[in-house]
Amino acid sequence: MTIIGLIQGLYIVAGIMFILSLAGLSKQTTARGGNIVGIIGMGLALLATVGYSIYQSAEFPDDRQPVWLTAVLIVAVLAIGAAVGTPIARRVEMTQMPELIAAFHSFVGLAAVLVGINSYIADHGGGAVHLVEVALGVLIGAYTFTGSVVAYLKLSAKMSSAPLVLPGRNALNIGAFVVFLALMFWLVAVGEENQTLGVVLVVAMTVIGFALGWHMVAAIGGGDMPVVVSMLNSYSGWAAAAAGFLLGNNLLLITGALVGSSGAILSYIMCRAMNRSFISVILGGFGSDGTAPAPGADGPEGEYTEITVDGAAEALATAKSVIITPGYGMAVAKAQYPVAELTQRLRARGITVRFGVHPVAGRLPGHMNVLLAEAKVPYDIVLEMDEINDDFAGTDVVLVIGANDTVNPAANDDPTSPIAGMPVLEVWNARQVIVFKRSMATGYAGVQNPLFFKENTDMLFGDAKTQVEAIVAALPVGQKV
Ligand code: NDP
Repeated sequence: MTIIGLIQGLYIVAGIMFILSLAGLSKQTTARGGNIVGIIGMGLALLATVGYSIYQSAEFPDDRQPVWLTAVLIVAVLAIGAAVGTPIARRVEMTQMPELIAAFHSFVGLAAVLVGINSYIADHGGGAVHLVEVALGVLIGAYTFTGSVVAYLKLSAKMSSAPLVLPGRNALNIGAFVVFLALMFWLVAVGEENQTLGVVLVVAMTVIGFALGWHMVAAIGGGDMPVVVSMLNSYSGWAAAAAGFLLGNNLLLITGALVGSSGAILSYIMCRAMNRSFISVILGGFGSDGTAPAPGADGPEGEYTEITVDGAAEALATAKSVIITPGYGMAVAKAQYPVAELTQRLRARGITVRFGVHPVAGRLPGHMNVLLAEAKVPYDIVLEMDEINDDFAGTDVVLVIGANDTVNPAANDDPTSPIAGMPVLEVWNARQVIVFKRSMATGYAGVQNPLFFKENTDMLFGDAKTQVEAIVAALPVGQKV
């Protein structure tokens, strides 16, 4: 077998492993295995790519860059990446994961831009197809880069999450895209004859991509960021696929297409979960039509009732069925461990306990599922919103642990609410609802929650972890309180 054959073989194996990895990740029970398969696939892909570069360098020696230098450069770059990435990945909290993902997407976008510019300068003879690939590669890459940077800044609260509304926003975007198309046709007309002009055109298209990415993501309100992160995930995949075309690397092409399409499917699912239009997300600027969430409270206020830890423990001990709806506050408080213990205690008493997980509870899709799995809550009692929403009516007690927007009845009842139309967990249909949070503050979307003022709702103020631990302590094993 030739070296090239071996490398192509490794690429195919890695591509298959990526597909198997995605299949594994689609279910909680197989997600860990899926992750491991993906890691091995990526290891093989890296090995093959490094091997290929060194082989190319040895086969086609270049006086300016001997083969040993190629090898040293690759190893040095890998070492720097690992040295920077490992501590960041170790240190990052689950709650910071979306911003980390956004930051990583920005690197994919920047890499695609550099590959595009380099490909225009270095590769010749590809004709119009190659030049269109370069143009699309730099546009998508540049868009992904600045879009991801803005998403990172918004998610990490380094930039206001309020949408940026420039006058004539849509006209600006369409105008920029038209200019891009004109530049692309100009580049195809110039071809490789006038490299200086060509480079200027490629750089101009990159600048348009940067501006579009920044503007379109800045125009999206904070409450809609989950879909944006997922969309950028998809864009980063298409940027990688474009780089795969330019580099003639099939594996990059396959991987980019997998990331691009799975990100698009996830975005679609999330759009449905939040009652948003997929098209308006692709075009950017949604959530900025004046109904965007304003920071601070608004909406109904009124009388609310409080409950003590002992009162909550008693309500639970006398219940037959309990549903727990976790949200971002559970992640912040790291309350998943005492929640898992509480679940175990209640089940030991013969009480039916289930979890209702909203598709965008927390700060990234699957956030709650990961935390509950980490705390060893059995998968079969963790249900999706659609699976459990009809069951609240027959439930004795619902524990809303650090969730807010995802259990807000205004989404159903108030057409003027910024979250109107978003499907929510209909917890208020249960006999009693106990809300765990530290204050009457609003959730991520910045809107007041009428649930807190309903007659069958009681507030249990305090840190979710401390309060759940206190309830566990008040519920000794096998003893009725
Ligand atoms: P929210 O963000 O709406 O509310 C979280 C609540 O947790 C707050 O009201 C807060 O109240 C409470 N809280 C915070 N810390 C603690 C603590 N230590 N102990 C107890 N309570 C605490 O949560 P949801 O999960 O219901 O909604 C998610 C929101 O985030 C949605 O608007 C969604 O669109 C958005 N989003 C979702 C993403 C995703 O992919 N899942 C990504 C980005 C945004 P208090 O301060 O009073 O304690």
